[in-house]
Amino acid sequence: CGIVGYTGSRQVAGILLEGLKRLEYRGYDSAGVAVENEGSLHVVRRKGRVAELESAVKQSEVVGTCGIGHTRWATHGRPSEANAHPHASNDGRIAVVHNGIIENFAELRDDLASRGYAFGSDTDTETVAHLVEDAYEGDLLAAVRTATEQVVGSYGLAVTCADEPGVIVATRKDSPLIVGKAEDGCYVASDAIAMIDATRDVVVLEDGWFVRMDGDAIEFFDGALNPIEPTVTHITWDM
Ligand code: GLU
Repeated sequence: CGIVGYTGSRQVAGILLEGLKRLEYRGYDSAGVAVENEGSLHVVRRKGRVAELESAVKQSEVVGTCGIGHTRWATHGRPSEANAHPHASNDGRIAVVHNGIIENFAELRDDLASRGYAFGSDTDTETVAHLVEDAYEGDLLAAVRTATEQVVGSYGLAVTCADEPGVIVATRKDSPLIVGKAEDGCYVASDAIAMIDATRDVVVLEDGWFVRMDGDAIEFFDGALNPIEPTVTHITWDM
């Protein structure tokens, strides 16, 4: 339902929680964050309010400057902590947040399960985490593209990888995703409201585009991973 991600020089946990609060108005049943720090991912998820996630994040002292967060509105699998996003790959190296519906998730799940991938949730989204792990050969951008080529449905996706510190890859199809560059780093979100305090210069991703954010650098790509120079939109509205 709601996606927010940040990579840069600031501690990310508070940025993600603040962004998720801004996205609360859309409704949700659970929330979570994944933060990358020194080559590992720290995932915290909770059923219920962002406030409950916030106290869990504070208790477990989540440290790091790159991460993704999500508020979930369940479509596949009941509201629960196990079904909350982010969803991690079996090796724990990749974390995914997703808005939308993976329509062919049952076929994907059966194929992945037959090849040894274990499922910890009832969501359609978890298939994407395993597809990215399956495709990963040292290049997260290429792996996310390979994964989405196998997906039928709608998605806004943001993905982090423990092996690529500071990197977030995002893409979308029939689900909104906005990217913004601020003084201290880069933001991605499903709604610009989650980033306008930091930046009002944003790129509205088009269907099939990919973005790779690495600290304060952003690169945009078309569906064939050719680099593109998108138009920057300046947001003038206020909350
Ligand atoms: N289909 C996904 C799920 O049920 C994502 C739902 C959403 O957009 O929040 O977990």
